[in-house]
Amino acid sequence: MLSLSFFSNNMASKTFRVAKIIFKRSQPYFCPVINGRSYSTAITSGDNEPSFLDSVQIYFNKAAKISGVSEKTLSHIKAPDCSLQVTFPIEVDDDKVEILTGYRVHHSRHLLPVKGGIRFSPGVEEQEVAALAALMTYKCAIVDVPFGGAKGGISIDPKKFTLAQLERITRRYTVELCQKAFIGPGVDVPAPDMGTGAREMAWIMDTFRQFHPNDVNSIGCVTGKPISLGGVRGRNEATGLGVYYGVREFLSYPVVQKATGLSEKIEGKRIVIQGFGKVGYWAAKFFEKNGAKIIGIGEKDCGAYNPNGINIEDLFTYLVKAGTFQGAPNVDIIDDTLKILELDCDILIPAALERQINLENATKINAKIVGEAANGPITPAANDILIEKGIIILPDLLLNAGGVTVSYFEWLKNLSHMRFGRMTKKWDELGKSKLVELVENNVGRQLTESERKSIVQGAEERDLVYSGLEDTMVAACQETKSTAASKNIDFRTAAFVNAIQKIANVYEGSGIMFMT
Ligand code: NAD
Repeated sequence: MLSLSFFSNNMASKTFRVAKIIFKRSQPYFCPVINGRSYSTAITSGDNEPSFLDSVQIYFNKAAKISGVSEKTLSHIKAPDCSLQVTFPIEVDDDKVEILTGYRVHHSRHLLPVKGGIRFSPGVEEQEVAALAALMTYKCAIVDVPFGGAKGGISIDPKKFTLAQLERITRRYTVELCQKAFIGPGVDVPAPDMGTGAREMAWIMDTFRQFHPNDVNSIGCVTGKPISLGGVRGRNEATGLGVYYGVREFLSYPVVQKATGLSEKIEGKRIVIQGFGKVGYWAAKFFEKNGAKIIGIGEKDCGAYNPNGINIEDLFTYLVKAGTFQGAPNVDIIDDTLKILELDCDILIPAALERQINLENATKINAKIVGEAANGPITPAANDILIEKGIIILPDLLLNAGGVTVSYFEWLKNLSHMRFGRMTKKWDELGKSKLVELVENNVGRQLTESERKSIVQGAEERDLVYSGLEDTMVAACQETKSTAASKNIDFRTAAFVNAIQKIANVYEGSGIMFMT
């Protein structure tokens, strides 16, 4: 079964239809009272907190008011463009078939291709995918990646399927995307997200190529691929590394130091991470490498704690083998995994799921900075509470943008059909060697071999990717800080304001066709 709906991007509709489901964009508002103070939120679910999609809208609306962008353009930006829902059968046993549902939402096609990950998780549903697609639009704008925003996923628990079944599921979903023109290097370029990785991206690419055997750019239909199949060095760790660069950059701002009492150094900072997957693991590695102490890590079933610092590689190796932290050496186990979020620490990094810090636990958060590596880990009401507690929040649409930034590099590599640095490395080395010789002759001292190598060596692909990522993250953090300071607003609102203004420039600059 297929349901496919297109929406005019000019429509400022409060209600839009995706497959058979009507999304209500505007929900009745409700103000819970905590310690005598009320917090704005909207009732959309049993827990009296907004859905993820409504949360993104709440943050957007708050920034929209102070963005200086016209109402007409704002509603244009906000309205989702189009959405695809597919259902397809998968044979799980000899005579048993399971019907699976997959989604792909294009939030904004103001720039093409659109970009966004593919998630395999039981929680995947239309509203979640729509929320993540909207975040992708704003995220790309913040880091000046020239893509529109999209997201996709299949509602499955990947752990419940065999490798062969997972391959069939991924390929079948890709066939649906191909048939409906929801994938292609110039249209829509997916990437990994929760529950997917380089392996799934390789299957997607291979399936796409069967449909487009003559497309010379076909490998650019997806990013996050293995290196041998056109991936770029540095993509695996990009989101975690971007999180590290972002936190390091904010720590260097006097305004953050003053608000938190923290020094600018990463060294010695006590860090807690929720989620030890692709993002959480790499963020932990980079913080550890730069001298921070990872004192707590939370996973699905339990958390690991060591106030003196966890050895990241040891714990990760244990987790891969045992499937749990239970029984791991040199850590205490916290059975109630949500309690990991409440540990006393300098920096808390949620890197798992959305809505993890909410009205239930916001008052108990004991960090000075919360860096959102996951998408949407804090509900709007919890956001208010944390800000009131003086906690600095580094928002998802900025902090986890390293993944899409390096995906952009990978896409560029695929379109240019050449590894970064291939044409310049030797030339650079030659130029630098000549310079070193000149200095040696003038100074009268020969450099040691290692001194010479460190100066002369040309950049490898990974060096260039890291450098491009660092530059992008630092620039985006600085823009956010400067908008926050000039408008006296928090960093999340500032990031949204910057994104809205950049997208508005594209919309307004390109005019509006067919509007009566
Ligand atoms: P992943 O599937 O590799 O890792 C997620 C980890 O979280 C897994 O180890 C899982 O077991 C764990 N987890 C699940 N439920 C949990 C719970 N209740 N408590 C603690 N841990 C739990 O996914 P990922 O790619 O690392 O993505 C994590 C988050 O980062 C998601 O919100 C995703 O949208 C966001 N993100 C990912 C990327 C990327 O490049 N992969 C980029 C930007 C944002």
